Amino acid sequence: MVRVTTTDRRGALRTGAGLVAGSALAAACSAPGPAAAPAAPPGTPGSTDPPQPGDPSGSTAPSADTPAPLAPRAYPGRPAQLTHGPRDRPRVALTFHGQGDPALARALLTEAEKRGARLTVLAVGGWLDQHPEMARRILDGGHDLGNHTQRHLAVNAMPEAAARAEIADCAARLHRLTGSIGTWFRPSRAPRASPLVARLARAAGYPHVLSYDVDSLDFTSPGAAAVTRNVLSAIRNGSVVSMHFGYPGTVAALPAVLDELDRRGLRAVTTTELLS
Ligand SMILES: [Zn+2]
Repeated sequence: MVRVTTTDRRGALRTGAGLVAGSALAAACSAPGPAAAPAAPPGTPGSTDPPQPGDPSGSTAPSADTPAPLAPRAYPGRPAQLTHGPRDRPRVALTFHGQGDPALARALLTEAEKRGARLTVLAVGGWLDQHPEMARRILDGGHDLGNHTQRHLAVNAMPEAAARAEIADCAARLHRLTGSIGTWFRPSRAPRASPLVARLARAAGYPHVLSYDVDSLDFTSPGAAAVTRNVLSAIRNGSVVSMHFGYPGTVAALPAVLDELDRRGLRAVTTTELLS
């Protein structure tokens, strides 16, 4: 079933017309990327590199002026899979698939920071391997950083050991680079985690899976105006919006999105702040 927001009066079937997360057409976070390798076969060993407290290998010592990374938290009374925050406060979370050209990512972060917005970045582990400096860049801007699996494969469809490794390997990268496994886990290539993946994420240290309730569909490259429209037609108090690094249209859309949020009195905060 495809739900189209009633506020979209421009034609319900237009591509990207305010589709709400969870619809069959909203192929969530299915950005193509280098992670096109087939899933590891059953029997593939799990992570050989779990996060070890105090493991110095590759550690980047936090500088004095770097905010301490936050650890995942449990939010009692909130569902295991969070699709949104409180509806009674004028705050929203813009959450990003963390992969792609780092220059685009930096441009987007800088634009957000200029306007006082804070984002949530769910980083793909392989991307952090290629661009380890981005972990610090994100945290130094006051943004949330989380785990979006190691290779961005269809994690819900993987055998247990392989899915566990996808989560653990990205957690290990985050821990090595920042001292924390990151505040959130979001499954790759699906808006929601399967019960198995949610259980594996919990076991890896993430009490909640971060889903979302608004899909910008920016990964379909519909143009900046459509990205802006998709977000603004569906966003409301407490919304968690799915967006992606790596797309010029997303960078181009951000100023208009943030201007309109400002006009509506909606503050773009980290997911941690949204839930606090
Ligand atoms: Zn993704």
